[in-house]
Amino acid sequence: MNTELTTAAELHKIDPVFGQVSFDNHEQIVFCNDKDTGLKAIIGIHNTVLGPALGGTRMWKYSNEWEALNDVLRLSRGMTYKSAISGLNLGGGKAVIIGNAKEDKTPEMMIKFGQFIHSLSGKYITAEDVGTTTPDMDLIRTVTPYVTGISESLGGSGNPSPVTAYGVYMGMKAAAKYQFGSDNLAGKKVLVQGIGHVGETLVDYLSKEGALVEITDINQQRVEEVAAKYGARIFNGADLYSADVDIYAPCALGATVNDDTIYKLNAKVIAGAANNQLANEEIHGRILKERGILYAPDFLINAGGIINVYGEIVKYGKEEAMRRTENIFNTATDIFNLADEKGMTTYQAALAIAEKRIADRKKENAQ
Ligand code: NAD
Repeated sequence: MNTELTTAAELHKIDPVFGQVSFDNHEQIVFCNDKDTGLKAIIGIHNTVLGPALGGTRMWKYSNEWEALNDVLRLSRGMTYKSAISGLNLGGGKAVIIGNAKEDKTPEMMIKFGQFIHSLSGKYITAEDVGTTTPDMDLIRTVTPYVTGISESLGGSGNPSPVTAYGVYMGMKAAAKYQFGSDNLAGKKVLVQGIGHVGETLVDYLSKEGALVEITDINQQRVEEVAAKYGARIFNGADLYSADVDIYAPCALGATVNDDTIYKLNAKVIAGAANNQLANEEIHGRILKERGILYAPDFLINAGGIINVYGEIVKYGKEEAMRRTENIFNTATDIFNLADEKGMTTYQAALAIAEKRIADRKKENAQ
């Protein structure tokens, strides 16, 4: 609770929910509380025009409730555009559980959370995100069918990260073709920041193609393991943002392209898995364009994971998920061309396509 805002009148003054900076006409926001299990969660349903709102559940030790609300609003909005641009019949939603996943999470808490999801009758469908796992989804599945990302042994699609990595790789190749004239990454210097579930598989694809891969991560042990496994170079410069590379692949956290880093970048392409890479999509998107740096919109190229879990709903397997993810190459190319033609940033072009798809469906639904 923000201690500066103590009275109801003060709270009212700033419109704490609908007046939040990240509020973007979300359809529904559900606050879930259970005293017995200690569950405190928020489900954000941004838009359901294209279908049920699907998006993962993040469990994170937020420093206050405002931060949690802001995160769920921002992330659920992102899911609307990710599914829309990927051609999926899904809306945008996301959930956050307030707490430390390592210390506070219990099976009882996850089951209670599953019951809250069930009470929404399918309007929101969950999946994994930071702080939640496939076994958590399996537990939720015991109380509701409105969950994806469950184990393959239970008929689910399993770990989405390798499919996400494939989509990022496809988006990067499309960006290379546009920027350097060829989608062949052999000999291109690529800096991968964050070599977790997605980053490692991306390093694998890149190394196999002959790219000159450099890696960085806060986990030094992983850096050494991954470097040895794929023959990647460990980045050891003073400042990774000014690294002399062709492609920068942010695969750790969001907002790494910000006021402090944007003028240092030497890379000519940004293509990575992290969500919300641009601290300010409008301002930083514009500066990248002016500086001649091609940005492959994150919500487009990291959609492999949702394309994979969508298969659980409409019943397709891994092969079809990979085929659809491969198409990220074509969609990215269309977006780069559209941005060029209209003088827009690539982010604006991607958003325009996603918004048009939603607006067209809304019209169809009204007829
Ligand atoms: P992960 O947690 O497995 O890996 C993240 C890695 O980044 C870890 O190795 C961590 O040590 C490292 N890291 C954290 N802070 C760092 C820093 N400041 N500098 C360098 N390294 C740092 O996560 P993941 O599943 O690989 O996802 C990576 C990113 O992609 C996340 O932002 C995630 O939200 C996004 N994403 C993932 C998927 C998916 O399918 N897993 C789908 C869409 C988007």
